[in-house]
Amino acid sequence: MQFDLLIKGGRLIDPASGVDTVRDVAIAGGRVAAIEAAIDAEHATQVVDARDCIVTPGLIDLHSHVYWGGTSLGVDADRLAAKSGTTTFIDAGSAGAGNFLGFRRHVIERSKVRILAYVNISFAGIFGFSQTVSVGECSDLRLCEPRETVAAVREHADVVVGVKVRSGKHAGGTSGIAPVDLALEAADQAGLPLMAHIDEPPPGRSEVLPRLRRGDILTHCFRPFPNAPVFASGAVRPDMYLARERGVIFDIGHGMGSFDFAVAKAMLAEGLAPDVISSDVHLYCVDGPAFDILVCMSKLMALGMPLVEVLRAATQKPAEAIARPELGTLKVGGVGDVAVLRLTSGRFTFVDAVGAALVADQRLTSDGIVIGGIWYPNEAPDHNETERFEPHAAHTHVEVAARHFGRGD
Ligand SMILES: [Zn+2]
Repeated sequence: MQFDLLIKGGRLIDPASGVDTVRDVAIAGGRVAAIEAAIDAEHATQVVDARDCIVTPGLIDLHSHVYWGGTSLGVDADRLAAKSGTTTFIDAGSAGAGNFLGFRRHVIERSKVRILAYVNISFAGIFGFSQTVSVGECSDLRLCEPRETVAAVREHADVVVGVKVRSGKHAGGTSGIAPVDLALEAADQAGLPLMAHIDEPPPGRSEVLPRLRRGDILTHCFRPFPNAPVFASGAVRPDMYLARERGVIFDIGHGMGSFDFAVAKAMLAEGLAPDVISSDVHLYCVDGPAFDILVCMSKLMALGMPLVEVLRAATQKPAEAIARPELGTLKVGGVGDVAVLRLTSGRFTFVDAVGAALVADQRLTSDGIVIGGIWYPNEAPDHNETERFEPHAAHTHVEVAARHFGRGD
C-alpha cells in the first residue's frame, strides 16, 4: 500500500485509546491508514521525521475566537494552527444568528484548519469588544431571541456544536441571569450543550452553575476573584463539587482575564483538574497572556498536571464535549488530524491573567500538524530556551485596558 504521508519514529500518545508508545503513523486519503511499530519510508510520498517528538491527535481548542475580520476580536485560525498544534478551532460564540452565515461563508468554508462553532444567544454575536470598547452582546435583552438561535443552529447543523452565552457585568450589563436562561432554553430546544461564560458578578457563579446540565460547559472555570471557584482560603466552593458530580464540563478558557495560577493550584490540590484546556484566544490575548492552547497546556503542566492528562484535556475531552469523539483519537480508518509536538527544555516564565509568574523547566512546542492528509509545518519554530510568556511590550496597553475594565473574557 502507498501512503500520502508517514510520521515516523515519534512517541504516539493517544489518551483516548490509552496508547503511549513509539509508533509510525501513516496517512492516506486524509485518514489514518496504519499505525505500526515500523512502516517502511518507501511506502510514503512524504515522510515527517518525528524522532524526539510527541505524536498526538490534532489539538482541539474548545474556546477560541476565529471570525477573523467579521468581528473585532477574531484571529486568523490558519495562521495560528501549525504553531499551536491545533487542527480544530471551536469558535465560542463570536457569531450569533444574525451573522453566522458570514462566518460560515467567509471563514469556516475557506479555512484549511477545521472550524466548528457555538452560536451566541445574542443575535449580533460579540460585536463590541476591543481595548477601548466594551459593549456586552447580552446587555440588551432584545438581542437574545431563542427562536433565532435555534433556527441558526438548525441551518448550520453540520458546523454548530452548541449554544454560547456570556453572562456577567461586562458581557450582560444589567441583564443578570436572564441571558443564561434564554440560552438554556435555546440549547434545550436544539438538543445541544450550552457553553456558559462567567465574568464579574452579577450573575455570580452560584446563580449560573446550578442551572447547567450534564454535558454543559462552564468556561473560565479557574477565573480570578471576583467570581472565583475558590474561597479566599483556597477551599473549593461547594457548588463546584456539585457541578462536577452532575457532569458539568470545566473548561479553562484562559483569554485575557480568566486564568489565575493561585485558583488553579487550589483546584488541583482538591483533585478538581479541568476537563478541558482551551485558550479563549482572541486578538487581545494572542500576544499574551494566553497566546495559544500549547502555552495554556504548558501552564497546566507547570502546575503539576501530568503530560498525558494535559493532552487528554486538549484531544479526547473537547472531542467528547462537542460529541465528535472521532476528532480526539487516532485509529486506523479514523480522521487523520495529527499534531507533532515537542517537550522543549529550558527556563520558561509563564504569566497568568492577574500578572502572577510561574517558572517551569519545560514547555510544549509544535513541529506542525496534519489536516486532510497534508503536512503543515510550523514555519516559525521557537527554539528560545529562556522565554517569558507575558503580554508583549507592544501590547501592554491591552492588558492595562483589561485591568481597567476588569472584563472577564
Ligand atoms: Zn471567549
